[in-house]
Amino acid sequence: MSGAVAVCSAVFGAAAAAFLPRVADRLAVPRGTPPRSACAHCAQPYRDWVRAGAPCACAARPVRTVLAGALGTTLLGVTIGPAPMLPVLLPAAVLGLLLAMIDLRCRRLPDPLVAALAAGTALPLGAGALIAGEPGRLGRAVAAAVLCGAAYLIVALLPGDGLGLGDVKLATVLGFVLGFAGWPAVAAGLAAAHLINGPVALALLLMRRATRGTALPFGPALLAGALIGVTTA
Ligand SMILES: [Zn+2]
Repeated sequence: MSGAVAVCSAVFGAAAAAFLPRVADRLAVPRGTPPRSACAHCAQPYRDWVRAGAPCACAARPVRTVLAGALGTTLLGVTIGPAPMLPVLLPAAVLGLLLAMIDLRCRRLPDPLVAALAAGTALPLGAGALIAGEPGRLGRAVAAAVLCGAAYLIVALLPGDGLGLGDVKLATVLGFVLGFAGWPAVAAGLAAAHLINGPVALALLLMRRATRGTALPFGPALLAGALIGVTTA
């Protein structure tokens, strides 16, 4: 049973991730700019949002994106198994991958996508907890969301250009999901986000892809950390 769940999760993650490059390419634009209507490289018009594979005929196959989608959903399938949380977290992981792709490219976490992640996780998880007679679990998730949001808001308000309000909103949503899984997941998720972000920033500095003044995206580390928190704790 658990093997079948893992395989189904992997197939879902890979298949869904294959549709992300076009959407990410259209949405990875500066704040206040409408979605991209043509390929930035060959100017081929983008008539629709749905395209499996590369964002444009001129681009390479998105092998890493598909592998990342499959890896994330497989981890969830293996660790959660056939539990009610799984069908909630599988699409959330794909949406998280889309957010990470956009943040990596233009250092933005679009509000509508973060709101969709919030609605797609908090509503079904919260309703499920109430139906299962576990209001304490919902309370813990809300408490973790408030704690994570407040902690990152304080960091964002400190002088410097480290954390944006998009990171604060995302951390609040991920805090809810981690809190739903349990306090150990919250601790592991937050610790993993910072353990991932530090070495990545250092590697970018060493590879001269970034300087001390470069504002690096924190969303991908937050999302990867949350995945680790949910699947290990
Ligand atoms: Zn193109």
